[in-house]
Amino acid sequence: MDHDGKLLLGKETTTTQVMKPSTAFLLTNAMEDVVKIGTGTAVRFPNLSMPIAGKTGTTSDDNDLWFSGYTPYYTATIWTGYDNNRSQSDKSYHKIIWRDVMEQIHKDQKLESVPFTKPDSIVSAQICTKSGKLAVEGLCDEYIGGSTVATEYFAKGTVPTEKCDIHVKVSVCEDSGLIANQYCPPSTVTEKVFLIKDETEKTYDTPNILPKDTCDVHSAGTVLPSPGTINWGQ
Ligand SMILES: [Zn+2]
Ligand SMILES: [Zn+2]
Repeated sequence: MDHDGKLLLGKETTTTQVMKPSTAFLLTNAMEDVVKIGTGTAVRFPNLSMPIAGKTGTTSDDNDLWFSGYTPYYTATIWTGYDNNRSQSDKSYHKIIWRDVMEQIHKDQKLESVPFTKPDSIVSAQICTKSGKLAVEGLCDEYIGGSTVATEYFAKGTVPTEKCDIHVKVSVCEDSGLIANQYCPPSTVTEKVFLIKDETEKTYDTPNILPKDTCDVHSAGTVLPSPGTINWGQ
């Protein structure tokens, strides 16, 4: 209603489907992360558990601030700005307004926390976040940089078909940190999962990349510390 009580938007509307249910679900899933871990965390209800998906928006110099978001029940958009189009110093009060109004509506109606509806056209799969391919048990989950296995949703028919090919388990020598050779004492050799990657500069992955060389500490001439009962010969 406008300020004279005149109806501007009623319930009688014509609806048009503009995207596939699977696309809508995947987009919702991505925008739930905006609220869980992204730029929209301020809209989370403090006293009520409820799935929320949404997206923040700004224009140059923060002249306009938006948050458009929805729950399985309601959709709302808050815009803040000045008539004379100037910068705003408080960059989160539109999110606070969205949060307070929406939480109140859900509380007043005692709405149950339910997940967003998942259509049958959506399937989930365990993928490796490094390769984007199917996770391999014993490799991606045992990676020395930490498990890279994640459950992701896909539209049916778009699940990756290839298995991760950049995680590899090799025997390394603890003394050199390099690939074990036949002369490394068994007690220094362990199996570890590394990442296959070519780098031109250092990254977060650098310490976990597969060594190119074999052990340079142990070789045919190495004298191994051992009990005196073994004759190593000349
Ligand atoms: Zn992997
Ligand atoms: Zn060695």
